[in-house]
Amino acid sequence: MQFRPVPTVVSGVTRSAPQDPIRSDPAFSEAVRAHALVRARSSGLLVCSVAAICYPGWALLDVALESGSADRLVAVRAVGTVALWTLLWLLWRHPLGRRSPGALAFGVLAVVQVTSAWMLTDVTHIEFYLLGLSLALHGSGVLLAVRPRWTVLLVATTWAALAAALLADPTPVQPRLMGAVAVFLAITTLVALLAHRRRWELAVAELVARLRLEEEQRRTRGLLVQLERLSLEDPLTGVANRRRWDADLAEACARARADGSRLAVALVDIDHFKQVNDRYGHAAGDAALRQVATLLREHVREGDLVARLGGDELGLLLPGADAQAAVRIAERVRVRSLELSPEGFTVPGVSLSIGVAAAGGQGAVPRELQADADTQLYLAKASRNAVRALRPAVG
Ligand code: GH3
Ligand code: MG
Repeated sequence: MQFRPVPTVVSGVTRSAPQDPIRSDPAFSEAVRAHALVRARSSGLLVCSVAAICYPGWALLDVALESGSADRLVAVRAVGTVALWTLLWLLWRHPLGRRSPGALAFGVLAVVQVTSAWMLTDVTHIEFYLLGLSLALHGSGVLLAVRPRWTVLLVATTWAALAAALLADPTPVQPRLMGAVAVFLAITTLVALLAHRRRWELAVAELVARLRLEEEQRRTRGLLVQLERLSLEDPLTGVANRRRWDADLAEACARARADGSRLAVALVDIDHFKQVNDRYGHAAGDAALRQVATLLREHVREGDLVARLGGDELGLLLPGADAQAAVRIAERVRVRSLELSPEGFTVPGVSLSIGVAAAGGQGAVPRELQADADTQLYLAKASRNAVRALRPAVG
């Protein structure tokens, strides 16, 4: 996910948003939503499972404490339990459980609140049933990781259910008792709402920090890849640079010594390149270097290496090739280079001198192989536009 600062227009002037750019990015809202859904479902399953066990279990208290109205209480509780378990089952199942965990968890707790509010007006031990109401509010505000609006809605549902139950009650509860109930429930409401809001802020802050870290890691990974590429690549021609050449040559020689295979090296130098620069200009010289590099690339196999070793000298590293194969490639390159027509050239043709050396097995020593190829290049320079090669020493 990538976040961009969102510009805002203030008095006709476009400025960066003063708020956190991550928070104002639409992608962030989406990440918060996804994160919230996962947390809401897992915490909902926990809270609602506890409710699914405790709520019907409370029937024991109904029977023990409220012998006069136990039948009605247990009947209401049975209906509530069926509704509650159904909602819990939906929360457990996909896709609804994943899509709307907040609403389902709210539904479970709302069942507890609405039926408990009704029971409150039908019992003598109000305090126990009041406890049920406050437990659900605490569960929602302190344990349930859903958006705070669900706890606000549960609070509203609780108070509305209580008011409705009291209004419908034929034998009103004593005002003093009702006052105590209201104070107790109000404090619970306050704690649940404040706790939920604070927890939500902390959860969002944690998410912002995590997303920022991920963004930073992604950027750093990209920079490292780019850095590694730049440290091994010649910027003018795009082929490997000297550093990569040295490393690959050493590795190829080590492999040849280990498994007795062969490898060949061809050093390519442009003839009279100074004159090319002088006659056509430096830009044309650069174009010629690029075309020679491309030509070399076109003539090697995958696994071979083309590198610019410095100035107008390039190299071919051909693992598995013997001197004959390397000379064949070098000859083709030499002939084709005479047809090159780099930008700025008035007369086509770039002439190359190429020195080839090959080795195999224990004879594959990087410094020696390169020195041998260099000697051959020197010999090729005697006539220029030529390929010279040294036969391999197989150890
Ligand atoms: P020779 O046939 O003996 O190789 O003659 P030469 O003129 O090619 O001599 P040499 O190889 O010593 O010259 C290399 C020249 O390459 C010197 C320098 O001006 C030029 N050169 C080196 N790097 C660059 C580059 O990046 N771009 C351009 N245009 N020229 C470069
Ligand atoms: Mg040269």
